[in-house]
Amino acid sequence: VNTRTAELVATNRDLQKEITDRKRAEENLKQLAHHDPLTNLPNRLLLDARLEHAISRSRRNHTQLAVLFMDLDQFKHINDSLGHAAGDELLRLVARRLQTSMRANDTLARLGGDEFVIVIEQLQGKQDVESMAEKVMELFSWPFRVQQRDLFIGASIGISLYPQDGMDSEELLMHADTAMYLSKREGRHNFHFYTQELTVSAYERMTLESSLRQALERGEMRVYYQPQIRLSDSRITGVEALVRWDHPEFGLLSPARFLKLAEETGLILPIGRWILQQACRQMSQWRAGGFSIERMAVNLSTRQVHEENLVELVEDILRDTACQPNWLELEITESFIMQETGRSIQAMERLRNLGVHLAIDDFGTGYSSLSYLKRLPVVKIKIDRSFIRDLSSAPNDGAIVSAVIAMGQSLNLEITAEGVEETFQSEFLRQQGCHQAQGFLYSQPLPAQQIEHDWAD
Ligand code: C2E
Ligand code: MG
Ligand code: MG
Repeated sequence: VNTRTAELVATNRDLQKEITDRKRAEENLKQLAHHDPLTNLPNRLLLDARLEHAISRSRRNHTQLAVLFMDLDQFKHINDSLGHAAGDELLRLVARRLQTSMRANDTLARLGGDEFVIVIEQLQGKQDVESMAEKVMELFSWPFRVQQRDLFIGASIGISLYPQDGMDSEELLMHADTAMYLSKREGRHNFHFYTQELTVSAYERMTLESSLRQALERGEMRVYYQPQIRLSDSRITGVEALVRWDHPEFGLLSPARFLKLAEETGLILPIGRWILQQACRQMSQWRAGGFSIERMAVNLSTRQVHEENLVELVEDILRDTACQPNWLELEITESFIMQETGRSIQAMERLRNLGVHLAIDDFGTGYSSLSYLKRLPVVKIKIDRSFIRDLSSAPNDGAIVSAVIAMGQSLNLEITAEGVEETFQSEFLRQQGCHQAQGFLYSQPLPAQQIEHDWAD
């Protein structure tokens, strides 16, 4: 019996050892999977988990939390000039120094590279975060000792708050990152809170600008078409070409997301030329194939109208695509018309002489006077969507729309209403004598094939 007991005890001991070994190995793996080996700080994975937990706690307790996204300034420069070993050492020192300023409940993580994230829970208010950010900045006011040198380095910080800036960890991190870019742009070594406007201006600008340059070559631009309907018989008379950008990461982007950037960078010129080409080619294909719409409308940006060779460009494209000039309608915004004089008016007249139609887009948003309109070689006005949208609620808008229609008629202009979504709007417009309508009531902007499928008989 004794030997038997001894055997059992031994086996048991072996088993125990095996279990603790395996446990230790698992712990090690966990540690490796959840920590950054260089600084031993939580990595992205663990940060995500902790942040999600923190968010749940905040939601339950109705408290705020803050995400500080920090990026070292000119770190790449140190890496490049002193070598990676020095860079690594600096990152370790930064991590250690940051750790000293953390409170027990805060999380400090390294995302990789020179990016660190601090999560602060149970905020009393924005001042709490501000003083934390200031404290962090102060940590950088004395040097780091790396390879017998004193290195000064700065840090740029962006801050997002739960719940106002995001509901999950991904969104909070993204917005803190966005705010960080603003700090970089404004001369580095400072901090900024996220605001919604930033999403378009700072972050998108940086990421979109470089990809916009390649969008054409990569074939990511698309032209969608939206039908224009004659109100008297509900038949399609034409389409408006509307650009889309099929961005590899963000999906299909509407012009609001990238047109301003395209204007500012001048990229609107090659992009605009390409759109015009596509639209004209599509139009002659449709006409040749028996889909006999009267008009293809294409938007021109201010920048394009200022281009010296606009008229020649249009001529070339019409010829190359075998598109007849009177099939083409170019839309110019009203605000542009108002600031224009001299040369651009001449360009418009030359286009008219070619036989191309000109339309004024977003009519009603600018301040065109009647007499001014009469001097322009324009055949159509498009009443801005904002007036159509409010037709039911604001009694004045009915009056404005009627007045614009009456004015257009007296000037012998064609009138199209934009943004028609409801039957009562189209009814009102028809009664007032508006000629055409365009809007979701009839169709969204769609790819060419879809337009044929829906509208060609
Ligand atoms: P826009 O020329 O006034 O075009 C009409 C806009 O209203 C389009 O937006 C269209 O999708 C939208 N829309 C049409 N019907 C409805 C409706 O019933 N309800 C609502 N809520 N919206 C409607 P999109 O395509 O986002 O284009 C926005 C603006 O971007 C255009 O306004 C135009 O100014 C500009 N744009 C679009 N494509 C081009 C282009 O190829 N070149 C240039 N230069 N500008 C373009
Ligand atoms: Mg338009
Ligand atoms: Mg418009």
